[in-house]
Amino acid sequence: MKNRRYSIQLYTRFKERIDKLDIVHISKKDFYDVLLVTLKENIKYFNKLGLGKKYELEKYFAFDSAIYPIEYTELNVRSLIKVFYKQLAEDLTLENLARVVSSLLDEMLYYELRDFSCPRCDLGILIKQEHDSKNLILVCETCLWREYENGQIYEGIKELSPVKTSILKEKGFIED
Ligand SMILES: [Zn+2]
Repeated sequence: MKNRRYSIQLYTRFKERIDKLDIVHISKKDFYDVLLVTLKENIKYFNKLGLGKKYELEKYFAFDSAIYPIEYTELNVRSLIKVFYKQLAEDLTLENLARVVSSLLDEMLYYELRDFSCPRCDLGILIKQEHDSKNLILVCETCLWREYENGQIYEGIKELSPVKTSILKEKGFIED
């Protein structure tokens, strides 16, 4: 029962902040920042249940919205907010809150290529970076096709991170 009370309390903390955003002028960055700040403030509740580790919630603390291409993605912020409410209305548990918040942050952080789709399944391609190198990797999340920028197949198993806006601009994936 305690978990149920916790999840409603925590959900309310997110909801109150989201409801305060100006829905007419809201940007993806505003929504991202609200999720991240609220997550930071409440991380101990997620960690108590092992959810911080399971959903890698603390990794997001390093991904500042000023440095990553959140505003350049083609996602619609109002649709993202709808996803938040809909998925939590279906299952209001701390586990689902952790899952939904991490998947929304992920969606806003990883840049999807324009004018290029997966050669295998024709779905969208995300651009990621090897954690400890400068290698950029093109990734299809659906069929797991992966390629280096130069077209060589990627078979690495390293952790892949979001790519900074400055690098995407430097490499011409985003026009300045
Ligand atoms: Zn694919």
